Amino acid sequence: MVVTAVTDETPRVRTLQLAVDDWPGHRAGQHVDVRLTAEDGYQAERAYSIASAPGEPPAITVERLDDGEVSPYLTEEVRTSDRFEVRGPIGGYFVWRSESSDPLLLVGGGSGVVPLRAMLRHRARSASTARARLLYSSRSLADVIYRSELEQLANGVDVVFTLTREQPPSWSGYTRRVDTELLREVAWPAEHGALAYVCGPTSFVEAVAEGLVALGYPPARVKTERFGATGGR
Ligand SMILES: Cc1cc2nc3c(=O)[nH]c(=O)nc-3n(C[C@H](O)[C@H](O)[C@H](O)COP(=O)(O)OP(=O)(O)OC[C@H]3O[C@@H](n4cnc5c(N)ncnc54)[C@H](O)[C@@H]3O)c2cc1C
Repeated sequence: MVVTAVTDETPRVRTLQLAVDDWPGHRAGQHVDVRLTAEDGYQAERAYSIASAPGEPPAITVERLDDGEVSPYLTEEVRTSDRFEVRGPIGGYFVWRSESSDPLLLVGGGSGVVPLRAMLRHRARSASTARARLLYSSRSLADVIYRSELEQLANGVDVVFTLTREQPPSWSGYTRRVDTELLREVAWPAEHGALAYVCGPTSFVEAVAEGLVALGYPPARVKTERFGATGGR
């Protein structure tokens, strides 16, 4: 695998576009495993969601955790033409298929927006007519990943931000963490038969999934992907 492009998304987040030999193609929502090997043979492996739509070259978007082992390397050291090992695509559960016409509810916290962005790009590229709504929780506007792309989405897609730590002076949007009340205001009503995809830190995902079930979503219609140990967004 070789890195073909590096894009800064926010001060802490980078997208790496990859060229993978014999890439079989991927589906929206799948991930890859990245394996790094140090000179002394020490290996570290982490999962990263695929940020691009099916049909586009695979890309990953990585948020730097300052005390992390792998993410500082991927966000600060890696340059175009660098190589590392990638295994995938992986996953068959957290996948959205463009043949589905059910209303689509995407709820992301922080870098949890990555696979949801792949779904929205897939939706646009496949000319799906499924109505889609993204609820995206970030610490601040500067932390919003893919901001200009998300703000330009139209054509049956609503994007709702909540900025939980810091807001611009003119901000009139949400400032709360995602809870049942916020979901009641933003999510499709349960009787619309929506399909929900929830992704982010573990505690975020659990709170959102419980909230959606409390609002009447059948658990089988709430697909979840947990990114990591910590919560606190
Ligand atoms: C299926 C899947 C898909 C993922 N997709 C993405 C993605 O698209 N983009 C992305 O940036 N990350 C993604 N992750 C998280 C990623 O795999 C790593 O956990 C993350 O990059 C941290 O790795 P690290 O080696 O830098 O930190 P580590 O050395 O593993 O951990 C450092 C510290 O951070 C804490 N920590 C670990 N993981 C997280 C986390 N996710 N959030 C907050 N704190 C954490 C640990 O408890 C520890 O204190 C995904 C995880 C899974 C399981």
